[in-house]
Amino acid sequence: MKGFLFLITCAIALSNLAQQLCPIIPTPSIYEVNKGELYIVDKLFLDYSFIPQNISEFLRNELNIQFNIALEQEKDDPKIIFSRISNVPKTYYSITINDNIEIQYNSDASCFYAVNSLLQLINGEQGKWNIKKSKVIDSPKFEWRGLHLDVSRHFFSVDEVKKFIDIMAMYKFNTFHWHLTDDQGWRIEIKQYPKLTEIGAYRDSTVYGHYSRSPRSYTVENYGGFYTQEEIKDVVTYAQSKYVTIVPEIEMPGHSRAALSAYPELSCDGVIKSVPGLWGVFDDIYCSKEESIIFMQNVLEEVIELFPSEYIHIGGDEAPKIRWKSCSNCQQVIKSKGLKDEYELQSYFIKRMDRFLTEKGKKLIGWDEILEGGLSPNAAVMSWRGDKGGKEAASQGHYVVMSPNTHCYFDYYQSSHPDEPLAIGGYLPLKKVYDFNPIPEGMNDFDADYILGGQANLWSEYMPTMSQVEYMTYPRALALIQSLWCFSKPSYDDFLSVYLAKHQDYLNNHKVNYANSIHFPQLNITRKEGGINLNFTGAYQESKFDVLLEWSNNNLNHSLNYPNLGSQDSIFIPKANNSKRSYLKVKVNSMSNSVEANYNFVVTDELGAKVELVTPAHPKYNNNGSLNLVDGVCGRRPWKGSEWLGFNTNRVEFIIDLEEKKKVSGLGIGFLEDNGSWIYLPEKIQVFKSKDKATWKSTSKVDLKDCETPFYNHEFHFKGKSRYLKIVVYAIDLIPEGKDGVGHVPWTFIDEIEIF
Ligand SMILES: [Zn+2]
Repeated sequence: MKGFLFLITCAIALSNLAQQLCPIIPTPSIYEVNKGELYIVDKLFLDYSFIPQNISEFLRNELNIQFNIALEQEKDDPKIIFSRISNVPKTYYSITINDNIEIQYNSDASCFYAVNSLLQLINGEQGKWNIKKSKVIDSPKFEWRGLHLDVSRHFFSVDEVKKFIDIMAMYKFNTFHWHLTDDQGWRIEIKQYPKLTEIGAYRDSTVYGHYSRSPRSYTVENYGGFYTQEEIKDVVTYAQSKYVTIVPEIEMPGHSRAALSAYPELSCDGVIKSVPGLWGVFDDIYCSKEESIIFMQNVLEEVIELFPSEYIHIGGDEAPKIRWKSCSNCQQVIKSKGLKDEYELQSYFIKRMDRFLTEKGKKLIGWDEILEGGLSPNAAVMSWRGDKGGKEAASQGHYVVMSPNTHCYFDYYQSSHPDEPLAIGGYLPLKKVYDFNPIPEGMNDFDADYILGGQANLWSEYMPTMSQVEYMTYPRALALIQSLWCFSKPSYDDFLSVYLAKHQDYLNNHKVNYANSIHFPQLNITRKEGGINLNFTGAYQESKFDVLLEWSNNNLNHSLNYPNLGSQDSIFIPKANNSKRSYLKVKVNSMSNSVEANYNFVVTDELGAKVELVTPAHPKYNNNGSLNLVDGVCGRRPWKGSEWLGFNTNRVEFIIDLEEKKKVSGLGIGFLEDNGSWIYLPEKIQVFKSKDKATWKSTSKVDLKDCETPFYNHEFHFKGKSRYLKIVVYAIDLIPEGKDGVGHVPWTFIDEIEIF
């Protein structure tokens, strides 16, 4: 592979001279354009004997569906000439377009990659198709190019799963991580334990709306389903025909409520509990006694028979230890095996699975929690809590798949636009996915060799249909595959141009419900003396916008229109004066594709004020720095990421400059509570006043008081005169037992402040 890397590094330097954007996603290593075009009317010819039959079938189908071009037995030009070559990497292929199309490949998989690239090279219209005379040379950078799908929280049919595999395969993903079991449903038939699917595959209710909502409500209906072993075999064979390996996941010891509802004797307390219709992390997990271990191994025995993959995923994440602590069986295992604590007990549990899988000729992979308490030498790690677990595992010599929630969690919102359908939270726009590098920053070459690749995860709590799964997957999966395939990826702008010019149509042709989020006008806010500047950008550089401002306060309503604004233009919004708060509605119409966006502002005296973050925000949730707190845009609930400033520390301090000494009587401030995402309300707040930023005086003691304004949800009252205000927020120390994220420092999310 290193030799190939050298070859393509030299060639990239050459091909850059051509300045031709390659229409293929993922961008191939080399794309050279020559003069002229190959024209195709409605037929292409092929000698079927040099290409695997499933691939010729695929090619024929796609040519027919997308272009109405017939593929016929070789007798005329233009021909597609396939040949298998060696002395190149197994994944290598090349395409040469002259008067005919020549394809060289070294494995069935690379033949399939070549065919997919060829299909993306075709331009033109019905009966007048053409391909630029050109040369493509290609091979992927990473061997694990994955997409995950959770079929437990919501269930998807065999046909839906096959379509999901179809589309990912066309974009050269090669690993499908099938998340088959979780608290809310067991989805794979296990012959030895029929109750897993008879009982564990169905729940009688499902939480409605966002699960952090209070009070919660439920849709009461029987929901569920599972795949028979015959169906599993069918999907595995189908995926093989698309050169996709399926890695099954059987979660343990946590995320096991569905299994425990069928076999409560495998839990610590033995109490019968139904399959939950609520999302989150549950305290009930498999007991670590021998009986549960034998059960898991028996399950894995049947799973191994169904899946030819090298790796079997055993989960290992989010397993609260509360039941193990009070269980005499678990404590007995700790004692008899000489273990230190419940973390070592989990490590013992996972090691038993690892030994079992190794004996059966398989390799274990699990979420990065499996590092806690020691990891067996053969196991591989999937790093999801940022890149920390991946770094640690690679430095210990374990293979790693990078799937950090910072760049690979496709259940997060892809824009902060109010019209985005309900999602779990978080913010992961297309550009951020594009910036993903599976090799963590600062990792040395030696450790980097342990990075197998990367993967995006589609947790389906808020994806009840395959259509919604597609919405969350595309186009972000196209940005991701660039990071997994390309040795040297083009700029984001070039990628976006290719996507807009070609791949929306490509996805339309395959009836994929991709998201249009990048077409929503993007609001950018900057500080300007005495207020803020608003500016709008779109997916296209030349995007133009029609902007309407509608002001309202107690006795004055008026509106202002700004037509034909470009991405360089901005609108100034002055701050309020003397606490005369006003409300501003901003309507933005994107003139290129008639998408409308609405934004609501609250204009206060503090709009655009100078705020010094003594405690820096966490880089993950620091979209616009300290301006976030005074930009007039209030953080939403459920949150869509970018409006909130996030901190992952116990003490947060910031200073507001009021620019002159003035009378103050209180402070309004917004905090987010979403315990499922480990975001908790603070324990207490202190406010200090100062004339000179040197000596600080504590204000009289004030309590955290809920209030009903949609703007902020807490307010403090104090009296006096001040130029500077220092605000110190104290989070709870560590997340307590019985709560999501137990033992970790909680997140504090703050947005929008007002001084009155
Ligand atoms: Zn137990």
